[in-house]
Amino acid sequence: MLNNMVECKDLIYQYPGNEEEQGKIAINGVSLNVKKGEFLVVLGRNGSGKSTLAKHINALLLPSGGKVYVNGLDTADTKNLWEIRNKAGMVFQNPDNQIVATIVEEDVAFGPENLGIEPEEIRKRVDESLKRVGMYDYRKHAPHLLSGGQKQRIAIAGILAMRPECIVFDEPTAMLDPSGRKEVLKTIKDINKTYGITIILITHFMDEAAEADRIIVMDQGNIIMEGCPREIFSQVPVMKKIGLDVPQVTELAFELQRNGIDMTTNILTIDEMVEALCQLK
Ligand code: ADP
Ligand code: MG
Repeated sequence: MLNNMVECKDLIYQYPGNEEEQGKIAINGVSLNVKKGEFLVVLGRNGSGKSTLAKHINALLLPSGGKVYVNGLDTADTKNLWEIRNKAGMVFQNPDNQIVATIVEEDVAFGPENLGIEPEEIRKRVDESLKRVGMYDYRKHAPHLLSGGQKQRIAIAGILAMRPECIVFDEPTAMLDPSGRKEVLKTIKDINKTYGITIILITHFMDEAAEADRIIVMDQGNIIMEGCPREIFSQVPVMKKIGLDVPQVTELAFELQRNGIDMTTNILTIDEMVEALCQLK
């Protein structure tokens, strides 16, 4: 049994250039293993190479140097392409660009239809996927009338219907309002915990990152930090220096400590902050 869902070995990616200028080296020697069933968050400011890395995981981009393996399959080997695209689904920022049909259940059926799956099996998968994202009651609705969070959940159902082992989310909540963000994050956590699907989530929201098993931080095409959320977010000055935030309560703890209050900076949640403050009495 393979232990890793994704393996990147010394991955380099340079975008194609033109006569005037060389293409940008967007990934510059990344090695990364993502375990089966892991919930990995990727942080990094704009242009750090997150989306470029994500596109390597379902072979939308192929390495300029190094290797990417998905479930042990080399993405550069064209005969693996079909299997890799089935194993690793991708959800993007804008739900409107991902919805193709005018009725929710037809949209969710689109992926498995393209895989050539039997109609009866498709029916089963569509219903099951819509239930998993909590959108079964909306199966006859028109997607364009739904909220952003609901549309993203439909997009997720469409991927789930293809029975992937891994889903890469590239800033799936960036265009959503706070309640939409919550819905989508809950759905992502759910499909990870309940169905064991490996999750790679690119996000700018630190409260989302705090939910991960592990975080990697990218900067200029490299991984510059790696660890569990507590390890990453305890590095407040480092995170600030590279232009990233930490969760608000973590920063509050850091500032309180800096101002001479005896408290741990190892705080990620409001509950932990309340407990730490109560202990001060
Ligand atoms: P992120 O997702 O972290 O914001 P990207 O992976 O999109 O970063 O981009 C990494 C670098 O590659 C950036 O400098 C960006 O300008 C460059 N880049 C991204 N897409 C292209 C492209 N299609 N052609 C050329 N350069 C690109
Ligand atoms: Mg991006």
